[in-house]
Amino acid sequence: MESRSKKYDYLIVGAGLFGCVVAYRAIKAGKKVLIIDKRNHTGGNLYCTECDGITLHRYGPHIFHTSNKEVWDFVNSIVEFIPFINSPMANYNGQLYNLPFNMNTFNALWGVITPEQAKAKIEQQRKEAGITIPENLEQQAISLVGTDIYNTLIKGYTEKQWGRKCSELSADIIRRLPVRFTFDNNYFNDRWQAIPKGGYNKFIEKLLEGADVWTCYDFFDHRTEAEQIAQRIVYTGEIDRFFNYRYGHLEYRTLRFEDQRVEIENYQGVAVVNYTDSKTPYTRIIEHKHFDKECNAQHTVITREYPSEWRSGCEPYYPVGDAKNNEMAEKYRAEAAKTDGVIFGGRLAEYRYYDMHHIIERALKIEL
Ligand code: FAD
Ligand code: UDP
Repeated sequence: MESRSKKYDYLIVGAGLFGCVVAYRAIKAGKKVLIIDKRNHTGGNLYCTECDGITLHRYGPHIFHTSNKEVWDFVNSIVEFIPFINSPMANYNGQLYNLPFNMNTFNALWGVITPEQAKAKIEQQRKEAGITIPENLEQQAISLVGTDIYNTLIKGYTEKQWGRKCSELSADIIRRLPVRFTFDNNYFNDRWQAIPKGGYNKFIEKLLEGADVWTCYDFFDHRTEAEQIAQRIVYTGEIDRFFNYRYGHLEYRTLRFEDQRVEIENYQGVAVVNYTDSKTPYTRIIEHKHFDKECNAQHTVITREYPSEWRSGCEPYYPVGDAKNNEMAEKYRAEAAKTDGVIFGGRLAEYRYYDMHHIIERALKIEL
């Protein structure tokens, strides 16, 4: 690596979405870019594989959604995006409910017919629970949708997903989900929702045209040389690792994905089914072919998602939204702000629960 010293304007650590959008911008500006990733592929969590004509979302279902026109125009300038509305189902002990929480859910649970009836039911349950200002996820959920929905569709799923009690988690986590008093099963409120035609890999390949790409390359295995190779570093890995865990180890949630090929055309009739009870060990089953309306495979592939606490050697998918971790992350973010020559960005380097559109919005804004 020494011989290549200062060969690049930018070294980008992590070929996930943040790193790839920054790489694209830097190349457009005429800069020389090296992007590295410790995994054996680019794209981070957007990465897909193929199984006899079915595109598999390798790291969980990814549906792009945004209301930001600049972000939408940007992604469409790279590849074509095909509209896709996510309407997952919840399975609670064999009973199916529509998500997100809407009149279909309220009707199935309580038999209510009108929005007024649904609102009255929620208000009554909120009052019974004695909540005024919600201070944690449990209180926030009960305030939004009442105790019955909390117990049926939220508590079991959330405690499996995060491995912590709902009363210990941040209220923000549940505010991501829409609550509607209309018969509308669209999981997101955003104006544009879509999946790249031909899958996310094509989108990533286009973003990286013109960059040098080294995979299976961990920044920390070569830190001294890597820090010399470029004028500036864009760092998208775990923020606590960058600072040698000086304030302690941040916690993450990881996932295990278990695939099954099934020789039938249609397994569950929808892309995503959440298992919201506490006994089923997985949180959801993804049936990949439903993400692609053009898929005409005769077989299908499903993936069960098992969450657990992150430990060394696993992928850190989710920053944990509790007070202890948020406080520690704040200290690391303050260090990052003081570190010259390094730009920190993305889910891991900012320790924030960002969706793809947040990532793109931020990657388009940073000063290069
Ligand atoms: P990452 O994709 O994690 O990329 C960081 C990269 O850095 C990784 O490839 C990693 O290997 C690499 N790296 C880390 N450390 C090093 C190192 N030391 N050396 C070299 N490389 C390193 N968003 C949506 O908008 N819609 C969805 O439907 C959606 N579904 C999701 C489902 C799941 C299960 C998960 C986990 C996330 C989902 N997201 C979704 C969020 C989306 O995945 C993220 O917003 C986005 O991928 C974050 O991009 P990133 O570049 O910050 O992180
Ligand atoms: N959630 C839930 N029940 C569901 C779906 C989601 O309780 O059926 C909660 C859970 O706490 C989850 C949060 O809502 O972490 C956000 O859900 P989302 O689907 O946005 O999570 P992601 O796609 O990021 O995994």
